[in-house]
Amino acid sequence: MTPFGRVYKWLLVMLLVGLFFIGSLKAWEYAITKVAQAKKWNITTLVYHRFGDERYPSTNTSVADFEAQLTWLKENDYQSLTVSEAHSKRDKQAGKFICITVDDGYRSFMENGLPVLKKLGMKATLFVNTESIGWGDYLTWDEIKSLQKQGVEIGNHSHNHSHFVNKEEADRSIYFESDLKLSEELFDKYLGQKPLVYAYPFGEFSQEMIEVLNQRHYKLAFAQFSGVWNETTNRKSIPRFPMSGKVSMEKFKSRVRMKPFKLKDQSQIPILVNTTDDEIGLVLEYNQDTYSGPVNCFINGRLYKDLKKENGALWIKYNTGNSRRRSIVTLTTQNNNGEWCWFTQLIINPLIDE
Ligand SMILES: [Zn+2]
Repeated sequence: MTPFGRVYKWLLVMLLVGLFFIGSLKAWEYAITKVAQAKKWNITTLVYHRFGDERYPSTNTSVADFEAQLTWLKENDYQSLTVSEAHSKRDKQAGKFICITVDDGYRSFMENGLPVLKKLGMKATLFVNTESIGWGDYLTWDEIKSLQKQGVEIGNHSHNHSHFVNKEEADRSIYFESDLKLSEELFDKYLGQKPLVYAYPFGEFSQEMIEVLNQRHYKLAFAQFSGVWNETTNRKSIPRFPMSGKVSMEKFKSRVRMKPFKLKDQSQIPILVNTTDDEIGLVLEYNQDTYSGPVNCFINGRLYKDLKKENGALWIKYNTGNSRRRSIVTLTTQNNNGEWCWFTQLIINPLIDE
């Protein structure tokens, strides 16, 4: 080959390498943009306890109210899914999704709630605490198995419905895991499978408990503070709007239509305090470009007037005092489309009894 031919060959090789390099960069750019534009979605999740059982007004939903709520959902094109279905369809299918969840496994769900769900062709997920099964007001395993056959997803709500955060941090994982094992054995024995979704008793949990659930292959875990499940939600800290007690239709509709207020930190792990004297400080950050409306802060449902705002950071000071075990800090605002958005931070003081 002549020297000229050799130079020509090198130029060709360099050109090809260059083109490959540019092509790779483009591919990376595409991949990065894809991640940045991860599909946005949101699913409203509701939590109920008892149906048509007037003996317990604070945890009950009347059959008439439940039917009115589900009818409204149906008329407004909400598709009801079990939580596992919602998890697998969340970013693949367009539409308005709703998850109806029921905690504790009371017989009133089967007797009074299920007929309404069936009448309207809707689904539910039932979280059962296994130690209570077959006692008093609770369903039996045979009934739970029959519910499962009828399309109700059965999730774990612990074995003995404990206040797990009352345990010292060092013992909490061991105690929580041994309770999980007891419930899983019963799931295995009576339903022939291990549960993959969990709802924390009293909505109380900690980072150690999340780690135990991760090790034991749970897909999802549900809290009991209000908010909207979305693509940024921690899968082991999924909010649910409580629907027990008397909930007006207006309130129901506004909760269902609610959008998530996505703070920069979406872990939403409850803050555990171990003092009834000291004030705790919270700094919550958000993106002011997305949420143009004024931010309102409520603590335990009452307007918090001392909210300090500074460049997308909100400063809150709070003392749980000695009477309230669970305190709820709620932030609401409007996004650029004028829709209401919601965020909750739970604070638990384990020194105070239920
Ligand atoms: Zn419960």
